[in-house]
Amino acid sequence: MADKRDYYEVLGVSKTATEDEIKKAYRALAKKYHPDMNPGDKDAEAKFKEASEAYAVLSDADKRRQYDQFGHQAFEQGGAGAGGFDFSGMDFSDIFGDLFGGGGFGGFGGFGDIFGGGTRSGYRGPMRGANLRAAVSITFDEAIAGATKELDLTLKDECATCHGTGAKPGTTPETCPKCGGKGQVVMTQQSMFGMVRNVTTCPDCHGTGKIIRDKCPDCGGAGYISSRKRIEVSIPAGIDNGQSIRLRGKGEPGTNGGERGDLLVEVSVGRHPIFQRQNLDIYSTAQISYATAALGGEVRIPTVDGDIMYTVKPGTQTDTRVRLRGKGVPDPMSRTPGVRGDHYVTLIVSVPQKLNSEQKELLRRFDESIGGQKADREGTVNSAKKKKGFFK
Ligand SMILES: [Zn+2]
Ligand SMILES: [Zn+2]
Repeated sequence: MADKRDYYEVLGVSKTATEDEIKKAYRALAKKYHPDMNPGDKDAEAKFKEASEAYAVLSDADKRRQYDQFGHQAFEQGGAGAGGFDFSGMDFSDIFGDLFGGGGFGGFGGFGDIFGGGTRSGYRGPMRGANLRAAVSITFDEAIAGATKELDLTLKDECATCHGTGAKPGTTPETCPKCGGKGQVVMTQQSMFGMVRNVTTCPDCHGTGKIIRDKCPDCGGAGYISSRKRIEVSIPAGIDNGQSIRLRGKGEPGTNGGERGDLLVEVSVGRHPIFQRQNLDIYSTAQISYATAALGGEVRIPTVDGDIMYTVKPGTQTDTRVRLRGKGVPDPMSRTPGVRGDHYVTLIVSVPQKLNSEQKELLRRFDESIGGQKADREGTVNSAKKKKGFFK
């Protein structure tokens, strides 16, 4: 705990930062390092925790004042090895509410699953079940329009025979004699730093605090039964590759009457042959003929809403980018429906590759006529310059 980074440094704000600046900084970090966005990335998770801890302190005027005065020491109760930071009483909902949107999409499931391990070991009351992860692949078009997918998953359910205790009906699990029902044992060791107390999970009862002598015949003492289940996943319109959907209560069953964990479904979105996506905007190219570019005219442009006719201005150069406002990706985080990105189309002037002799002749005559004009214009410019230079 000694080498904890400074909370202001963690959030990248100054010591005089306003409440708003702190919130903004944390939001950005939380979005970047949120475990839902970085499945399995321990480094991101550590950064997320670090930022959350910094925010928990700096967003609270009292705690911030204590921190400014005493530094990290202000919050280190219990001394050596305590480690856990108390997040109880913190309300992150306003942050995560608008960060990940409501309506069940990516909703933040509380700190239990992220911080649970450190602060709750040895706690034998109701324990929330673990989160499960699954993956689903959808097409680009499905990501734009939203989709419903079915997943076949093996899920655990509490055993109906023993109601999750794992003990044969009519018998009750005994209190573990090794740990006295605590679920953990304390081992004291002499080390070069002095006496070290190590708290570890009880090897006999694996942390449950109970020993089952007569196992339940239906679940073999596990307390749960696995079965294949079909889960419907509703994918919101606008979801991006790598984002996850949280299905509350579809994870592992809890223990001692705790609620189920969540199911996190990571979505991978396929590529589209002509559209490219960046955040909420779509990019594509469209070919226009040399004549249309010069004279102006209509060009058919495919969008995710279907083809549209776009009027090209006379004298359009190649690589001109036009914006089709509101033709991009629907914002899955927005509470107001209809918020969409834009579609940017790069117009490419195509040069004809095969010409018959008549077309070649027409182009030569065109070129001569244009060449004449150009020469004329340059002549005028030159003579103007000369005049200026002469009289100066
Ligand atoms: Zn059972
Ligand atoms: Zn035990």
